[in-house]
Amino acid sequence: MNFELKNAQKIRSQNKSTIFDKILVKQAPADIIYEDELCMAFNDIHPQAPVHFLVIPKTKIPMLEKVSKSDGQILGKLLMVAKELGRSRAPDGFRLVINNGRHGCQSVYYLHIHVIGGRQLKWPPT
Ligand code: IMP
Repeated sequence: MNFELKNAQKIRSQNKSTIFDKILVKQAPADIIYEDELCMAFNDIHPQAPVHFLVIPKTKIPMLEKVSKSDGQILGKLLMVAKELGRSRAPDGFRLVINNGRHGCQSVYYLHIHVIGGRQLKWPPT
């Protein structure tokens, strides 16, 4: 069982402060590749491919299923940033992933989009 899956199965609370809260306020180190007033992107600490970074909103949403109608604009913004960075860093193609909840293998309860690329990816994901 890999590290993320183990973590995902251990999580009991979705409301605790996470490592991404700390990265956002620069209280934890991260390899930040993009930042603006609404979102931040940084490289994943356990990359699953040559390109693997995460895009997060600056306003905390713990997980995709907690998104409300008023979050539509920020979701669009996250996708646009993921697309722009993905296109420049993995020009041959890339994949976006949002893990949601325990069965979705979510281990950090701060909404994030994984952007993965830089090699041939397989389908389906298991
Ligand atoms: P999830 O399983 O979709 O919640 O993904 C969480 C991701 O965060 C995993 O891919 C982890 O490798 C990554 N991660 C955890 N801690 C850090 C960190 O401190 N910096 C960057 N990425 C992290």
